[in-house]
Amino acid sequence: MARDDFTKPTKNQAYQRVAGRCSNPDCRATTSAPVGEVDFSNVGVGAHIHAASPGGPRYLAAMTAEDRCGFGNIIWLCQTCSTIIDRDPDSYPAETLKAWKTSAEARALMEQGKRLPDEKDIYRMAAMAMGTRTPGFYPEAIGNVHKALVDQLEAVDPRFTVSTTYSGGNTTITVGAKETVSFSIKIAQESADVWRKGLQASIDEGREATLPLDGVVFEGSKLFDVLHKDADLASITIMPTARPAVLKILAPQTEPAIFETINGQLTAGRKQIRFAGAGCGGLLDVEIIFTPTNGDDVHSVSTLTTNLKAWQGKEAANPPYLDVFINLLEAILDPSASISFVLGVDGNQAAAGKFHTPKHMEAMNETLAFAHYARRARNVLRYLRKSAPIDIFESISTDDHRALARVSDIVEGKLSYQRSQITGSPTMTVACSDGGISLMEVVRKGEFSVLQQKEPASMVTIYGKQYEVPPTTSYYSPVKLHILSRKKKKEIIDFRLRIEMADNFTSQTFFDVQH
Ligand SMILES: [Zn+2]
Repeated sequence: MARDDFTKPTKNQAYQRVAGRCSNPDCRATTSAPVGEVDFSNVGVGAHIHAASPGGPRYLAAMTAEDRCGFGNIIWLCQTCSTIIDRDPDSYPAETLKAWKTSAEARALMEQGKRLPDEKDIYRMAAMAMGTRTPGFYPEAIGNVHKALVDQLEAVDPRFTVSTTYSGGNTTITVGAKETVSFSIKIAQESADVWRKGLQASIDEGREATLPLDGVVFEGSKLFDVLHKDADLASITIMPTARPAVLKILAPQTEPAIFETINGQLTAGRKQIRFAGAGCGGLLDVEIIFTPTNGDDVHSVSTLTTNLKAWQGKEAANPPYLDVFINLLEAILDPSASISFVLGVDGNQAAAGKFHTPKHMEAMNETLAFAHYARRARNVLRYLRKSAPIDIFESISTDDHRALARVSDIVEGKLSYQRSQITGSPTMTVACSDGGISLMEVVRKGEFSVLQQKEPASMVTIYGKQYEVPPTTSYYSPVKLHILSRKKKKEIIDFRLRIEMADNFTSQTFFDVQH
């Protein structure tokens, strides 16, 4: 059957509209070059998006022959890419190729008449893209700069893999060796001490070491020259070989039982293996250092550190990891609770052990007190349907804490007492305006009844901001009242009463309005 081939003008149209570059965005190879003194060759292909004949890749029977060899069905590619897309049409459907074509044309339009970046420009572009003054720069442009940078650097010394990331105004270039690469480092006298300590920590303990590059010369690869001289890097971080690891914290005897997962990394130094990870959304840092002792024994030292900064500015009506964090802290601080861990690498158990009592009990107790405050603040803000940021730096007075605790208890329906919780003989003072007639009536009957006590709306302070909470009614029952004394002040009589509680006495406080 006849092939619906493209005409020469259609191919030329496709070639010109993408500036002669391969339309695969990951390739962008030029396709034209000189041959001999005056001739030229073109390795580009005007490829069919939908195949030219039945059985071909992405063939569309419904298409007319005219459309099949029309401009809408052509994509300009280098030979390599045209082979790839035809060999695996499932991975390169027509929609993908059409998207390539559109973006290749857009880039050709953008780049037309503009000077191409040279090797040095890559760094200037990178610096510009990463710098603070970035008018009109798009994330895509930053991505392209990164890719260009990586390609350039890898081309300098193919023994290395290079990747770049950009965050907080800094570009990080990560260099990994594909094979053993020997190199030497010359370090100026003034940096020698920092370098010695950093390298030792890296080699012995498997720790990351960030070291200054002032007065430091690397020899052994052109890549170092390029990075050092042209990219003007400020520091180098030596990363130990790290493997992702998962630490499970187990405290099965707590209520509810805790099985918290901490994601982290296992790094190995000459003298120790170290796990470091963060859990509870950054609130908890865990470090466990395994040191081999005599024989086959391994000694482990665990450190749990809390980091409340992970909460700063987060929504106070919904602090992340609040409940699990409190449960963990309570278990850690409970000397009778036993918290163990299981360390997994690649899905296999690598180590298991027990957590040691934390060194900084006092700090951890303070953290727990704050977490309790955060829980009460959450309860009350949710009840009031208010939103506020957590402020870990706000100083909280004991009175504010106590007032919030009371309101939180009312919200949770927990502000209630049983007979056994009340010691002594409670009294109260009641001001009566009717000469005490109705009160004395109640007292005279001598029966147990329900006593109601109303309190007006009040204010509660949460993270330094005041909120109004509704009036409350407290119910005490069953009680009997006894008059202890009376004091007349003009129209008002103040009665001092003793409250006698029945054995089945309970009290409970509610808000008067239901939200
Ligand atoms: Zn290509």
